[in-house]
Amino acid sequence: MKAVVFHAKQDLRIEDVAEPTPLPGQVKLKNAHVGICGTDLHVYYDPDTCGSDFSKPHPITGAQPPQILGHEFSGTVVEVGDGVEDLKVGDRVAAWPIYHCGTCHPCLTGRPAGCTTAGFHGLTSHGGGLATYTTLKATQCFKLPDSVDLRLGALVEPMSVGWRAVRRSGAGKGSRALVIGAGPIGISVFIALREHGVEAIFVSEPSAMRRAAIAGVGATHVIDPMSTDLAKAIADLTGGAGVDFVFDAAGIVAALDQGISLLAPGGSAVIIGVHSTTMIVDPLTLLLREITIGGSCAYDRQDFAEVIEAMSRGVYDPTGWVADVAFNDVESTIVALHSGQGVKALVTIGED
Ligand SMILES: [Zn+2]
Ligand SMILES: [Zn+2]
Repeated sequence: MKAVVFHAKQDLRIEDVAEPTPLPGQVKLKNAHVGICGTDLHVYYDPDTCGSDFSKPHPITGAQPPQILGHEFSGTVVEVGDGVEDLKVGDRVAAWPIYHCGTCHPCLTGRPAGCTTAGFHGLTSHGGGLATYTTLKATQCFKLPDSVDLRLGALVEPMSVGWRAVRRSGAGKGSRALVIGAGPIGISVFIALREHGVEAIFVSEPSAMRRAAIAGVGATHVIDPMSTDLAKAIADLTGGAGVDFVFDAAGIVAALDQGISLLAPGGSAVIIGVHSTTMIVDPLTLLLREITIGGSCAYDRQDFAEVIEAMSRGVYDPTGWVADVAFNDVESTIVALHSGQGVKALVTIGED
């Protein structure tokens, strides 16, 4: 079968590899659609700092590059291993890519992505979505209802990131929120906020293409912080009060710092974007205004289930911000996304 295999920095190859066979407890999927995300870009351009240690076998999966990529994906069950009862051939699923030990403190407190030995299918495992087939534990497959197609199924993973950030933040009816960044994660935060009853949602995004993308899914207050005074705009929109929540989906210190300054007393900043530099925070400001700063990382099983349920109600519309690309164009798509073109790319796996 064909597969996109990561060997080393900027060394991605389309190769013919052996088809996997499901072990007991596993299913074999015919992959359908696979999202390319910032993590894939990080792996491609800077594998040494991408968060996965490729220098030794992964402690849970035992895998090490060469590695088939693709951790955001959907597929159809074509074979079931011994002992699998909850899935049958023909079931369509979204893949839960996380491998975790199940026994460490983060695992036991609902933070599988924070597992001290966490791994990901399509990053540090025996396979991935960017291949004709892959095998996964049946428990790593979330069955899609009839009303959720396989294209949306590939978006469950990135949409769960924003869902978790909003769910854990406590934002709800009557809250005012600022979303910094309108890439796929900013869009996932926006949709999750709306689903949690938040009506006053403001978005800050310098890219015209991304502003149009989030406006396309329903954002009405989308601000270009390069041409507009964001602080003044937020003051005008909130009667001078500021916002209750800032969601940082950009990972830029200056933008996060400004976002914190726009919080009303008692407000919270939630960091979802990956930062590569540190920032200085004035503790006195936090104390006097009772500001909370926290982070939200990836998702857990509840986030996946709730996103799929919301998708079944038609909440997630991929029109206008999701582009479909061909299997042979994975590398050029990574390069294009890296240079700021496009919002979200889904690779169509197609036939072998
Ligand atoms: Zn991802
Ligand atoms: Zn663990």
